[in-house]
Amino acid sequence: MDDVYNIDRVAPACAPENFADDTGEAHFVPAPCQVACPVGTDAPSYIAHIWDGEIEKAFEAITATNPFSSICGRVCDAPCEPACRRADSDGAIGIRNLKRYVMEKLGKDHSLPPVSVSRPETVAVVGSGPAGLTAAQDLAVAGFEVHVYEMTDRLGGMMVWGIPAFRLPPGTIEEDLNRMLTRCPGIKIHLGTPLTSQGEGGISLDELKGKHHAVLLTIGAWWGKSMEIPGADDPRVVDGVEFLRRINGGDRPQLPDTVLVIGGGDVAMDACRAAKRLNGGKTVKVLYRRGAQEISARNEELEDALREGIEIVYNRQPVAVSGDDNGLSLRCVETNLGEPDEGGRRRP
Ligand code: SF4
Repeated sequence: MDDVYNIDRVAPACAPENFADDTGEAHFVPAPCQVACPVGTDAPSYIAHIWDGEIEKAFEAITATNPFSSICGRVCDAPCEPACRRADSDGAIGIRNLKRYVMEKLGKDHSLPPVSVSRPETVAVVGSGPAGLTAAQDLAVAGFEVHVYEMTDRLGGMMVWGIPAFRLPPGTIEEDLNRMLTRCPGIKIHLGTPLTSQGEGGISLDELKGKHHAVLLTIGAWWGKSMEIPGADDPRVVDGVEFLRRINGGDRPQLPDTVLVIGGGDVAMDACRAAKRLNGGKTVKVLYRRGAQEISARNEELEDALREGIEIVYNRQPVAVSGDDNGLSLRCVETNLGEPDEGGRRRP
């Protein structure tokens, strides 16, 4: 058994002679789960370390490319799991839950030794969402002093403004942020500093270029999509991203007895579950323009929404919103599905 699972046995794969390319080099072929992970997490290594009881090494492998591992251990979509080779035999390995196990076992105070600033150049990162902070950590580990400019009063971008509190235990986001800042004292934070034109408050691109040797813009996905149908500009029609942002900012709007959420992705699932909590558990329906097979929300999210009494209405495409003092009406057409689109889901 030890021989089979000893990670030191794992050597880079060598291409068979007939498949060798013109470099003559052996190439490491990452596992499908690692390719499917948006940050390239080396899941095979951390799972092997867990098997060997080397939890600290597993932590190192998990956090090597992802400073937000406590968060991802709970709310990542885990595209690595459907890509797992075992998915077609006895079921995918619970890669996300194994990550959560490691992060919880070592606790919030565990972190890698601090890295110091070793280079004279400084880098500005604009935006403190997952992309900006991951880049900041990578740059800090490479020895740069990094200045993160964030327009709001909180670090974390959509992790703090987009994920509803009921999906994460309190303190999880802070745990990852504190761990990163403890490890990287060369990351300097400037909250309440938006990127603006010169002289408009905040900081301009020219000022950033004058102060730093490089500027990285990671300004993220702050705005949601509009429905672009007649009546969608009624102030009672709110985009899901803005709705979640308001709630995470502490707003508690009084919602009507019936709330419709349009869309079938994870933002729609978060929005409908938040709405259910705000309208006193009354009616919340999700309208989705394709069928149940095509819905893009993660199964787990969908099941949680259904368990909370949210109704999903499939094959409905909104075409117009109308409203008066008593409320809003949404006119929809029933859809039939046609050929698959470029993403493989059948088009309405
Ligand atoms: S759970 Fe998410 S972050 Fe972790 S390995 Fe899978 S895709 Fe990557």
